[in-house]
Amino acid sequence: MSSILVFCRDCGKQVPSSDTQDQLCLDCRVRRSMADLRDEHARLWRKRERYRSHNSANVVQIAHQIARVEDRMASRIRELVSNERRAGELLQRELEAARGQRYTIKGV
Ligand SMILES: [Zn+2]
Repeated sequence: MSSILVFCRDCGKQVPSSDTQDQLCLDCRVRRSMADLRDEHARLWRKRERYRSHNSANVVQIAHQIARVEDRMASRIRELVSNERRAGELLQRELEAARGQRYTIKGV
């Protein structure tokens, strides 16, 4: 099977044209689709840190909200990625990125 290779206009990686949409590779499409959920994740995380420093009972509630955002990230990735193993890898990466981001924010 011959497929044309194209450059992703975001990361510049060369990918088969069958994997691209709007000249974006799958990785970049997933990353872009996460933007709002990642912001939401960071916002909830900061809130949880605040409550935690006050020993507030709301911490548990916020933890549930964070889990819900992560569930939404998972289902959004599954909508974009039909290959289950690949979807799992990408979710892992996005969760690590989201959790990494909160450390960045925390360190500020
Ligand atoms: Zn890309």
